[in-house]
Amino acid sequence: MAGKIPRIEAREQDPQTRRTNFQEVCLGYTADEAMLEATRCLQCRNPKCVSACPVNIRIPAFIAATAQGRFAEAAEIIALDSCLPAVCGRVCPQETQCEGLCILGVRGQAVNIGKLERFVADYSREHEPVVLHTAPANGRRVAIVGSGPAGLSCAHDLAKNGYAPTIFEALHKAGGVLEYGIPEFRLPKETVVKSEIDNLKKAGVRIETNVIIGRTLTVDALLNDEAFDAVFIASGAGLPKFMHIPGENLNGVVSANEFLTRTNLMRAYDAAYDTPVYTGRRVAVVGGGNVAMDAARSALRLGADVTVVYRRTEKELPARVEEVHHAKEEGVAFRMLANPVAVLDDGRGWVRGLRCVRMELGEPDESGRRSPTVVEGSEFELEADTVIMALGTSPNPLIASTTEGLAIDRRGCIVADEHGTTSRKGVFAGGDTVTGAATVILAMGAGRRAAAAIRRFLSEPDDARRQTD
Ligand SMILES: Cc1cc2nc3c(=O)[nH]c(=O)nc-3n(C[C@H](O)[C@H](O)[C@H](O)COP(=O)(O)OP(=O)(O)OC[C@H]3O[C@@H](n4cnc5c(N)ncnc54)[C@H](O)[C@@H]3O)c2cc1C
Ligand code: SF4
Repeated sequence: MAGKIPRIEAREQDPQTRRTNFQEVCLGYTADEAMLEATRCLQCRNPKCVSACPVNIRIPAFIAATAQGRFAEAAEIIALDSCLPAVCGRVCPQETQCEGLCILGVRGQAVNIGKLERFVADYSREHEPVVLHTAPANGRRVAIVGSGPAGLSCAHDLAKNGYAPTIFEALHKAGGVLEYGIPEFRLPKETVVKSEIDNLKKAGVRIETNVIIGRTLTVDALLNDEAFDAVFIASGAGLPKFMHIPGENLNGVVSANEFLTRTNLMRAYDAAYDTPVYTGRRVAVVGGGNVAMDAARSALRLGADVTVVYRRTEKELPARVEEVHHAKEEGVAFRMLANPVAVLDDGRGWVRGLRCVRMELGEPDESGRRSPTVVEGSEFELEADTVIMALGTSPNPLIASTTEGLAIDRRGCIVADEHGTTSRKGVFAGGDTVTGAATVILAMGAGRRAAAAIRRFLSEPDDARRQTD
């Protein structure tokens, strides 16, 4: 039966309609579709999908419950390991994680695990919300810096074991990149992000917004003055990179982070908000990751003609295949094997375009990656009213510079082992601030491992904990 049914793809908004609105692109499964897709799962005895999931969701078990229409039970099974199922069902790169190792994918099509997770989480929210487990309070308080997926999943695991986690968030809304970066048309804020965070609050997670650790309070003040027993730093990697080319300081050049923050967190696309955002008629987005696709598709929805400029070929694009496919369907143009060398001035201090060079891919280097080299004499101009730089991000240096003895590496990332242990006793770290920009589920996995390490640390006798290394 399983092998005979073709994989069921979820319904989507029509590309021509959706390019004019910020409503969610994917419409998800109906109950019948979800049950049918779930019957494709072979219920492997040694399910590779589980080990490929960084938080080890019990995938066959939740799929079995889904196949039988026991959706609330399926949601309970997922909640044992993840507090953000409706988020992950939408944004996880399943093709390289759980679905990438699904046995059905070897000869055919993997089970659509992501869309099943999304269906179950949405069903649960709309019909029978999961009550996250808690334990009696044990009197231990843990401070968490940052309310992105790493901080939230660490807080979840601590709360369910009786610890009292308080998250300190610099912005006025919780969620990290889920709230300020990933656009509404991929991840709805009120219905999905806020409701999953509200569920955590109900389980005892406290969130204090508008608190910048390193300014309002330091990590040392959290441990010494505020008497927290441990600190988990999950402050992400929100500092944008630039190219350092001539003209990059012209009006009309913005980082993708600023552009997306205005659009998402500050709702610039919504007439009810007065957040300014400028695109002009033509937008060039430099970069090829998920952030570049999100910026390009947002600019398109704000009414611009958009071109993505990327220095390698489509094969090397780091963005998810699904995002590139969606961007193309919506009308985003791609200029591959091209690299900007200058931003051009219109004579009044504003951008009028990019000067680019054509690139070609050389022989693979030691890492197996073919590096791009410039084609001599290949300069050309690309007209643009706005240039959005989506070249990657690194951690903000504020916390490292205000926390004595906290080791960082040459990229500015906090040095921590796989359990989140840093060079400071009682201070743990995980997510993008340790790895550099990565994924939601990897950050969640780091949050869970750090929660386990914090619990081990706090179960040591007081004297042992106070000893310095
Ligand atoms: C536009 C965009 C699209 C993406 N798309 C995807 C995708 O489709 N799939 C996927 O898996 N991943 C995606 N990612 C990556 C993913 O979102 C991140 O890897 C993930 O959010 C990292 O989680 P985190 O908890 O480590 O940090 P973040 O989500 O960055 O959260 C860190 C939080 O800490 C707060 N903070 C920072 N400094 C301080 C301070 N000093 N005091 C208090 N609070 C502080 C920040 O305001 C922020 O809220 C995307 C990233 C971006 C930017
Ligand atoms: S690997 Fe695929 S078929 Fe096997 S249990 Fe996981 S989802 Fe089901």
